[in-house]
Amino acid sequence: MFPPDKLLKAAHQIRPFIPELLDAAIAQRVSQQLESLLSTAVSEQDVDQQILTLLAEYETTREWLRLYVEENYPADAILKVIRTYSPLPETRHSVESPRYLCPVASCHQTWYRRDREQVIPNCPIHDVQLVRDSKGH
Ligand SMILES: [Zn+2]
Repeated sequence: MFPPDKLLKAAHQIRPFIPELLDAAIAQRVSQQLESLLSTAVSEQDVDQQILTLLAEYETTREWLRLYVEENYPADAILKVIRTYSPLPETRHSVESPRYLCPVASCHQTWYRRDREQVIPNCPIHDVQLVRDSKGH
């Protein structure tokens, strides 16, 4: 089980990221519940368990918590990690879409896959399918 002091720290750290991790309506509810838990946190014995229950309810917040508490990721790096393997509700801003390139070395066609459903297109010049940029960015 997570140590209570670390869980409380995680609960403070996750707050700005909740709107990125959950659908808007759920994010609002979770944020409010978290705020009220944190505002009463000091004296309550089981507040850490309540926080854990709240954040474990959703896959993305549970994973955030796990990465923060168990794997010691810095708070501002976790969103990016989660985005690489878990579809998040909205792609509003600062989403890192995988980049695709034409395999022809001299060609500079690029394309960003913004949705897993999107079909990877062919290069309009060479008519070969674009390949994922292995370098990442
Ligand atoms: Zn090309």
